[in-house]
Amino acid sequence: MEHAGTAQASAPVSAGQVVVVEHPLVQHKLTLLRRVETSTNSFRRLLSELSALLAYEVLRDVPMHDVIIDTPLERMNARLIDGKKVCLVSILRAGAGILDGFLSVVPGARVGHIGLYRDPKTLVAVEYYFKMPPAMNERDVIVLDPMLATGNSAVAAVERLKEIGPRSIKFVCLLTAPEGIRTFHQHHPDVPIYTAAIDRQLNDHGYILPGLGDAGDRIFGTK
Ligand code: URA
Repeated sequence: MEHAGTAQASAPVSAGQVVVVEHPLVQHKLTLLRRVETSTNSFRRLLSELSALLAYEVLRDVPMHDVIIDTPLERMNARLIDGKKVCLVSILRAGAGILDGFLSVVPGARVGHIGLYRDPKTLVAVEYYFKMPPAMNERDVIVLDPMLATGNSAVAAVERLKEIGPRSIKFVCLLTAPEGIRTFHQHHPDVPIYTAAIDRQLNDHGYILPGLGDAGDRIFGTK
């Protein structure tokens, strides 16, 4: 496991890795998000801010290209990221809460959506929507879902994405638990996970403990 903010964090992220982003701003905002009394309005704003901070770490190794530019004083070689090669994939519906923050730092990114729901009895992921930009083989995919809990939706989403062969895949969540990491990396050891925290465990309904409750309900005020 990698702890971003330590010396090792600048090494390239490799297969089977979990990067825990421990920057104080991330941890501070996560604490505010977790609190039961945080309003829908504040939850949404904090989630968006926290996601932008996560994006900073996730995009640390994004490919860059050289350009020649003119400053007011002289011509120079400079570097740019090719935002269009980044494809943010939001797992509906809670992924939408992270998407905003990522788009605020890579506004040129393309966006895909995957609709999955958890069968409440079996906790298995069932797909109901899948829409991606063209030429996925040229794009680096960043899958967004606030909660990596049982791991079933994440496994299904990445399985589906691998069918269309993107250049690379990373998985980003706010919170996870040991069970989710285990399941995810059993199926996809080649996909690194970025998270703000690894919580203690899941409860019998597949919720993360201590967690922050139902992320979708808290983002959209549906409970
Ligand atoms: N989904 C959520 O929204 N919260 C959890 O704790 C687990 C899955």
